[in-house]
Amino acid sequence: MSDSNTPSTYRKSALAPDLREMPDRTVRAWVERMAVRHLGGADYAVDSQSGATYVVDAREGTCTCPDATIRDETCKHQRRVALEITSRRVPPPGKRRVDCAACGTETFVPETSDPPALCGACRLEPGDVVLDRETGDRLVVVVVTGRRADEVPVEAADTTVADYPTNEGYPTDDIVVEVSYLTDAATGRARTYSFPHSRLQRTDGAELVDA
Ligand SMILES: [Zn+2]
Ligand SMILES: [Zn+2]
Repeated sequence: MSDSNTPSTYRKSALAPDLREMPDRTVRAWVERMAVRHLGGADYAVDSQSGATYVVDAREGTCTCPDATIRDETCKHQRRVALEITSRRVPPPGKRRVDCAACGTETFVPETSDPPALCGACRLEPGDVVLDRETGDRLVVVVVTGRRADEVPVEAADTTVADYPTNEGYPTDDIVVEVSYLTDAATGRARTYSFPHSRLQRTDGAELVDA
């Protein structure tokens, strides 16, 4: 069973600097017109106010500008990249920006992760125990597919997951999660069933202990 204490999505924070208390270089990092683009990995291109473009490596703490390469200083480009990462304007190193496949919320996922991309609130991992919102049954996640409920057939009922009677209240474009019943999983011969993602309620494990 996987750890359910995964960190949730990054917190949004307001940036309200008191510029009077900042060193000049930091002030310039805030107030100068710069455009930051994530190039992938830890690299960010910064189009500076002067018209030059420099590349910042946010992991190594380097920049290709003269301040950083010749004077070996932490330059305004590095500071600006740090500010834009902190304020979620660009992805952190190694991440990319996506819309959560389940709820649509914008989130950052590892660049190397396979689809479907899910935000922290929607993420399910194989082995997670979830509750069926309709019946309260405990289910074990087998795989989170990237397929839509109206595309996945339910062979036995000659319909799709979306049109299956007990799934009527859930979005037809919900992604499908294959699960098995917790009671069956113990036998090692569990059948899998296809459910719309939003019909499944995440648990923190506490529900597994019968009162
Ligand atoms: Zn620089
Ligand atoms: Zn989500």
